[in-house]
Amino acid sequence: MALEKFELCDRDLPKALLDRYLQAEAIAVDTETLGLNPRRDRLCLVQLCDPEGYTSALRLEKGQAAAPRLKQLMEAQNITKIFHFARFDLAALNYHLGIQVNPVFCTKIASKLARTYTGSHGLKALVQELEQIELDKSAQSSDWGNVMALSETQLAYAANDVRYLISLRQKLTTMLEREERWELAQSCFDCLPTLVDLDLQQFGNVFEH
Ligand code: MN
Repeated sequence: MALEKFELCDRDLPKALLDRYLQAEAIAVDTETLGLNPRRDRLCLVQLCDPEGYTSALRLEKGQAAAPRLKQLMEAQNITKIFHFARFDLAALNYHLGIQVNPVFCTKIASKLARTYTGSHGLKALVQELEQIELDKSAQSSDWGNVMALSETQLAYAANDVRYLISLRQKLTTMLEREERWELAQSCFDCLPTLVDLDLQQFGNVFEH
C-alpha cells in the first residue's frame, strides 16, 4: 500500500480531507459492512479515492447515525460518486447515515451494458481485464466489525477496492459511447435512488409479474 497517499480517519472526514475531495470531479467510494443485509448489518468502513489516487478509509463507530462531512461530499451535485454495485453501498449509506448519494456512476451496471461479450462483472474480473491488475479479494468476507483493530491486509484490501474505480469509469464510458449505450447507462444510474428506496422498504418485486 502506498502509505503516503492513504489516510485513516474516525467517525467523519477531517475538514482538510473533505476540502481536498470537494475539489474533485469524481470520487470513488466503497463500503465494508458486517454482512449483505443493510437493515440488519451495520456499516463499518467507508473508503474513498480521488482522481489523484489519494485514498482514505473512514472508520465508523457502532451505533453512529450521522457523518455530516461525508454526507456533504456524497450529496455534492457537482461530484460524481463511483461505486462497484452502487445499489448495495447506497442502501447502507442511506439506512445507517441518512445519506442520499447523488449523482452516481456504477461500474457494475456500466460493465453489464458495455461488456456483453462476458458474464463476468465482478470487480476482480473487471480490474483484471481493463487494468491488467490481479486484485486480492481474500479479505472480502472478513470481520469488519472491530474497526479499530483492522489488519494491514484488511486495510490494503479496502483501499484497493476503490483505487481502480475512476480509471474503470473512464474506460467503460468510452466503451458505452462507442456502442451508443451511454444514455441508457445514465438512465440506469438516475433510477438507482428509487431502486434503493424500494429495497429498503422491502418492495424489491414491484417490477415483477
Ligand atoms: Mn469492498
